[in-house]
Amino acid sequence: MAQAQLTIDLSALCTNWRNLQNLAQTEAGAVVKADAYGLGIEQVGPALAEAGARRFFVAIAEEGAALRRVLGSGPEIFVFGGHMAGDTALMRDARLTPLINSIDQMLRHVEGLPGHPFGVQLDTGMNRLGMEPSEWSALRDIALAQKPSLLMSHLACADEPDHAMNEHQLNVFRQLTDGIEDAPRSLAATGGTLLGAGYHFDMIRPGIGVYGGLPYLDALPVVSLHIPVIQTRMVEPGESVGYGNSWVARTPTRVATIAAGYADGLLRAMGPKAILWADGTRCKVLGRVSMDLIGVDVTQVDGDPEYLELLGRHQSVDTLADWAGTIGYEILTSLGARYARTYVQA
Ligand SMILES: *Cc1c(COP(=O)(O)O)cnc(C)c1O
Repeated sequence: MAQAQLTIDLSALCTNWRNLQNLAQTEAGAVVKADAYGLGIEQVGPALAEAGARRFFVAIAEEGAALRRVLGSGPEIFVFGGHMAGDTALMRDARLTPLINSIDQMLRHVEGLPGHPFGVQLDTGMNRLGMEPSEWSALRDIALAQKPSLLMSHLACADEPDHAMNEHQLNVFRQLTDGIEDAPRSLAATGGTLLGAGYHFDMIRPGIGVYGGLPYLDALPVVSLHIPVIQTRMVEPGESVGYGNSWVARTPTRVATIAAGYADGLLRAMGPKAILWADGTRCKVLGRVSMDLIGVDVTQVDGDPEYLELLGRHQSVDTLADWAGTIGYEILTSLGARYARTYVQA
């Protein structure tokens, strides 16, 4: 079988979520946008609900509807994108809670779904989503009269604890929401959770830390990836491996060709630095990453390995991200649909 094996440890994932909640000593929501960061909303959603999560966050209404199907009626599902034109029936039928981002969205919501729950997203300086302070002051009394389920904002620089933007956004969020008794408040994702108690308010909204990524240094690893070796061969000095002849042997080298590539989210950019493991032996990637195949130096490996490990005990999604000049989030959400996925149950 030439299908690479992606193992997702739901037990580690739930432990990460619980540990972040314990750290914050406040309610923890769960962010499961983008198919639970690429790991599978159908498995991750119910596992987190079983672990105690009662409020979930997705990016768009369609993701919320898919999550509702697997979670059943209990948990609250917030939609970061808010109430977009065309979403009204989905919001109603799947009982989704939009996070209202503008006066236009507020009007659409109260006209289309009077009495239906909503939250408010405030922009405190990131200039991505949320009401501007001026919009909020115009709308605040009307919105509060309808008891929003949540008032939230998002930090732009929370992965840099010393960045002045963190305190600035905290101050703006407090100016916009201090003194409001009836609505819970939320500011922190994973990075904000690690900034300390002042950032926690009534709920944290961790994503990446739950999935085992930085900036949550203490996260348990959640994913491992084992890629089958299709073929091995000896390459003599002067011979090359892969497209563009970008790697040329200087010494006799045993090359394993493994069954995954950039179509599986293994970014071409990581090729020159990437390492795989045969048990405890490091094996360098040779030449360019192809769509479905990668050449790997197995000269130092005893015997013919059946699989090489790319993610797991030895290296994390953030290690791969460093090689490719990106972030763990992008590695996770790029993992393709071609893997055999195994879930270790919580
Ligand atoms: C993605 C997202 C989160 C979760 O962020 P992490 O850095 O993955 O913890 C929280 N809030 C908002 C608004 C988001 O877009």
